[in-house]
Amino acid sequence: MAEQATKPVLPGAFDEHHPPAQEIIDKCVHCGFCLPVCPTYVLWHEEMDSPRGRIYLMKMAKEGAASINSEWVGHFDACLGCVACMTACPSGVDYGKLIEATRAQIKRRYSRSPGEKLHRKLLFATLTSPGRLNLLRWPMLTYQKTGLRTLLHRSGLLKLLPSFVTSMEALLPRLAAREDLPEVTPPNGAKRKRVGLLLGCVQRVFFSQVNAATARVLAAEGYEVVAPPEQPCCGALLVHAGEEERAQQLARATIDAFERANVDFIISNAAGCGSNVKEYAHLLRDDPAYAERAKQFSAKCKDICEVLAACPPRAERKALAARAAFHDSCHLQHAQGVRTQPRSLLAQIPGLELLELPESAICCGSAGIYNLVQPEAANELGDRKASLIAPLQPSVVVTGNPGCVLQLRASLERAGHPLPVLHTVQLLDASIRGVSLESLL
Ligand code: SF4
Ligand code: SF4
Repeated sequence: MAEQATKPVLPGAFDEHHPPAQEIIDKCVHCGFCLPVCPTYVLWHEEMDSPRGRIYLMKMAKEGAASINSEWVGHFDACLGCVACMTACPSGVDYGKLIEATRAQIKRRYSRSPGEKLHRKLLFATLTSPGRLNLLRWPMLTYQKTGLRTLLHRSGLLKLLPSFVTSMEALLPRLAAREDLPEVTPPNGAKRKRVGLLLGCVQRVFFSQVNAATARVLAAEGYEVVAPPEQPCCGALLVHAGEEERAQQLARATIDAFERANVDFIISNAAGCGSNVKEYAHLLRDDPAYAERAKQFSAKCKDICEVLAACPPRAERKALAARAAFHDSCHLQHAQGVRTQPRSLLAQIPGLELLELPESAICCGSAGIYNLVQPEAANELGDRKASLIAPLQPSVVVTGNPGCVLQLRASLERAGHPLPVLHTVQLLDASIRGVSLESLL
């Protein structure tokens, strides 16, 4: 661990490179208001798997009363980083910053097993590279379209494989024809603003129809849309997993790409990416060349629903007959505070009935790479969500993050209630174009 040698170690268990901040830890008054919305506490009722317990574990490590061993790390690995605890906390504890700093410490100061290291390395190498993800399209298409998938499912062979393999298989996106975007999409009518579109990695390769719908809706509402082709992964998965240095490299390259595009706003349609780019100022705070630029960049970042809900609609919305159950993505509702905007946009669609889910504050179990590294807990949360969706008898489930789309689809299928799961902007696009939901499936 070369990095460890370069970071002086404090008297406690952490090194001195941005340990979890004492002033944030001290804000926790142990009231427990966050416990009912914490997915792991809801599942297991273990204090050390609650936000309050995890903050206590950080404090103990800081004071040298706990070491960074496998049991201690396990409580942080089990955290989904959903930050539902932040929305619930009356004392304003910024748990997001605490868990991010803790995971970066774990990355530097704890050695995972060789198998775990390899699994994580492969996940990050693949999921943060649109080029590598693209290489998977043909094998996946072959698997899905030749009947191999059906055969494997019917044979029961899948059940013999390790749980992380079956989880990955269940989460595979159902591939459709790719819809590539031009670098610039002109606005319909008078231009309102020039905006940049963050393409995402999984979104760009496996949900290109969501990016295409985003550009069409923005253009219909008078925005010129620029999609810089050289933009890399924004680094969201890496930040949330404590892979700080690589995340910083990607953040710098993303800022460079959008500065060249000279746009008024930078728009994301993947909640995990959106919450990450809004925090670049924090990620690059020590970098003299980028700290100020990162602040300016983050100030321009908005979720697609924030931008659309803030301006009076220009394009006519045509009727769309659907019972739509709305699922709040954690990185949209908790990390970005975007809850009312998707609902107000869906309410603009004539004929659409919006259904509210119980337990809407609680994560579906997707959470970045969580459902790939903690499949059992993720499946439990997915099953719980599916059991709340099914009784509403929706015709479609709507959300704002590709990870949630995959997790909800897999969970609903496992529960025997397969349903289409679409992005909010796809429904708006269908309504503006006057096409049926069935044509999107
Ligand atoms: S981020 Fe989510 S899982 Fe982690 S402690 Fe907070 S509520 Fe619990
Ligand atoms: S709600 Fe806030 S102050 Fe109360 S226990 Fe949770 S983190 Fe601490």
